[in-house]
Amino acid sequence: MSNATNPQHGDDGRPVAFDNSYARLPDVFFAPVDPSPVEAPRLIAFNRALAGELGLDADALERHGAGYFSGNVPLPGSLPLAMAYAGHQFGQFVPQLGDGRAILLGEVIDRNGRRRDIQLKGAGQTPYSRRGDGRAALGPVLREYIVSEAMHALGIPTTRALAAVATGQPVYRDRVLPGAVFTRVAASHVRVGTFQFFAARGDTENVRVLADHVIDRHYPALKGAEQPYLALLDAVADRQASLIARWLGVGFIHGVMNTDNMTISGETIDFGPCAFMDRYDPRTVYSSIDRNGRYAFGNQPMIGQWNIARLAEALLALLCDDQDKAVEMANAAVGRFMERFQAHWKAVIRAKIGLGADEEDDDQGLIRDLLVTLYEQKADYTLAFRRLVDAAEGDAADDALQDLLETPGALTPWLALWRARLAREAVTPQARAAAMRRVNPAFIPRNHKVEEALTAAVDHGDFSLFSALTDVLARPYEDQPAFAAYAVPPKPGEEITATFCGT
Ligand code: AMP
Ligand code: MG
Repeated sequence: MSNATNPQHGDDGRPVAFDNSYARLPDVFFAPVDPSPVEAPRLIAFNRALAGELGLDADALERHGAGYFSGNVPLPGSLPLAMAYAGHQFGQFVPQLGDGRAILLGEVIDRNGRRRDIQLKGAGQTPYSRRGDGRAALGPVLREYIVSEAMHALGIPTTRALAAVATGQPVYRDRVLPGAVFTRVAASHVRVGTFQFFAARGDTENVRVLADHVIDRHYPALKGAEQPYLALLDAVADRQASLIARWLGVGFIHGVMNTDNMTISGETIDFGPCAFMDRYDPRTVYSSIDRNGRYAFGNQPMIGQWNIARLAEALLALLCDDQDKAVEMANAAVGRFMERFQAHWKAVIRAKIGLGADEEDDDQGLIRDLLVTLYEQKADYTLAFRRLVDAAEGDAADDALQDLLETPGALTPWLALWRARLAREAVTPQARAAAMRRVNPAFIPRNHKVEEALTAAVDHGDFSLFSALTDVLARPYEDQPAFAAYAVPPKPGEEITATFCGT
């Protein structure tokens, strides 16, 4: 049993001050369900900084973490529940999904006044488990921990990792694996698929209840809008367009952009077979279940728009009493997604190559030429941009950049055009390089390093590589010479070609 079977906290000494708004929604939104106890919980990671940001009692939580974050010991004030949702999985609509292995404990108001969900993932079966065991394996739990925290450090909206607990129990997948429970923090867990759940049942009233809930929670400025539900659709589209542009900026491939894995808040969620691209190629796919490349790196904007179209459909009944008019409004909003994405992406990529906001006609061509050369030359995406930062300070660094290419020298003409363009901006090379260094990471969670850390933990119970990796990735924009080995792409033979979601 856990060493935290009977923690004592007074009413005012509760480690988490829950305020559970989702549990106050109508019954059809969720199923109350308690976590299923595990045999021998052991706290393997706890995010003290995040606990502080959430206003939690970090000392109490850490002391009793094995009990609380396994679900063995109920957190006072929590109202555990599984959320109902539907979703399009690889394009196929599934009317009933829901939290099959996730249990929402409740919500807290963080130090910045933002409402945040605290959820256990892998805490046992729920009424939505279908044939699943409700459990999670240690490997995927550590992957989500590493990658979601790395995402946050990169400055990209994401769910967070509060804790990971080893359960001491096996889970049965293609082989027997150690089990674990992950504690996830999110702005909310409402997904495009949550809207689809009610819309598919013709339950317009609850589509409206959900829409009002998320406007309150994520888009309060829209409350007085003339067309609040159309404004909501546009606002979600904008946050998703921005999010995907930022993913592309760091080479992130989500891997399972099903509509049940797309949040309404605009946070990255559900780190399954996700991966960061090494060599630049928009067709890159790692996920073993994505056989047709639906969710390939370069497809993500288009899929984002497809998912927004599904959200638009789910909101149709709220947009206008005249359904022809509603369809027109929805189509126009979906059409705006690509314009928004292009605008966000332009901002991301211009910053990456050191261009300011004043555009010139040829800038688009300059950007395209760089990407085409990186693709043709099989260059590492992250390192190429990081070395471009040094090249912005002077051409002494050009060789290091060109060394990443199959044919060193292939960037010479481009570098000349780029420097001529930069010379027309009133920025010193040092200031430009400093700005570029803040948007071009030195460190991303490289797949072979993630895999190495997961293997050590799962096969040998050695968490030292996991700790080292999370430490390095907490400061992705700083050169950390002691960790140079984490900055370089895999050597031949080290490449990871497929990732598994491990569910
Ligand atoms: P995901 O692919 O992780 O986004 O999950 C898709 C759906 O499958 C969600 O409804 C999950 O709750 C459910 N699911 C995934 N793994 C399990 C599991 N081990 N037990 C029960 N449900 C699961
Ligand atoms: Mg999911």
